[in-house]
Amino acid sequence: MIEEIKDKLKNRDRVIRVLSKNGHFRAVAVKNTMAAITAQEKHKLDGLSASYLAKALSSATMLSAFLKGEERVSIEFSGDGCMNKLYAESLQVGECRGFVSYKDNIEPITNLSEILGQGTLKVTRILYNEPEPIIGIVPIQKGDISTDLAYYFAQSEQIGSGVVLDADFNENGKIIQSGGFIIQAMPDATDNELQTMENKLSEVTSLSKDFMEGLSLIDILKKYLPFDFDILKSTQVDFFCRCSKENFIAKLLLLPIDEIKDMQNRKQNELICQFCSKHYYLDNNDFNNIISAIKAKQN
Ligand SMILES: [Zn+2]
Repeated sequence: MIEEIKDKLKNRDRVIRVLSKNGHFRAVAVKNTMAAITAQEKHKLDGLSASYLAKALSSATMLSAFLKGEERVSIEFSGDGCMNKLYAESLQVGECRGFVSYKDNIEPITNLSEILGQGTLKVTRILYNEPEPIIGIVPIQKGDISTDLAYYFAQSEQIGSGVVLDADFNENGKIIQSGGFIIQAMPDATDNELQTMENKLSEVTSLSKDFMEGLSLIDILKKYLPFDFDILKSTQVDFFCRCSKENFIAKLLLLPIDEIKDMQNRKQNELICQFCSKHYYLDNNDFNNIISAIKAKQN
């Protein structure tokens, strides 16, 4: 029983943040297989789409591990490929959510780079002490998420970074592993250290295989980081959406009254959350309450 609990805890989705003992590198690593599976199930995605969403969720979760409190980060790929939007966001406390959307009339692709196509990667941070969100936008490079994220760090934040993301699905298209790590050089890192780091990163073949072999996040960082480190933070990760029927209704209260009446007449009562695909339904009572509330506001 205790072994079983230990096993469960070990397999729990988690993100950890570490700093090298000499302070020259920082790194963050995530295992979010369960969150990726939940995302796939909620949005009913095929394996390839689910693996893209898994990588985006990994990225957002790792970026949020550098934040504090209820600060949050979102990453958004918008391109002219068949997947015209790939979105993930994460709260520092470990909640993540996201979605993919497609162009109408999808044509068969011959190359993975055609999935996202040409476009932009936008990273948004909502921070406590900033009145406005901090936004960085770069062109999509390879469209494999990891190259794009490394490019974003270099261009937008001037931080040399190695980004490794992995998300695997089985022959039935079900996600079986998801995770990744980011290592970043701090200004004090020497050329020698940077070279060692680069060599070490070139040894990474498959994180999924590492996870499959039972390596923990700490084991993985020990395997690929050529220096000793201290763990600064370890947070559990979940796919979690804070949507609710009340939130949807609050948004409907901002619409013109005729639009609500029109929805009611056409029995258009289904509300679907973009972030988690949860369905909510309005009954006649809800519609009448919304209409009275809008009327009350106008008087
Ligand atoms: Zn939702």
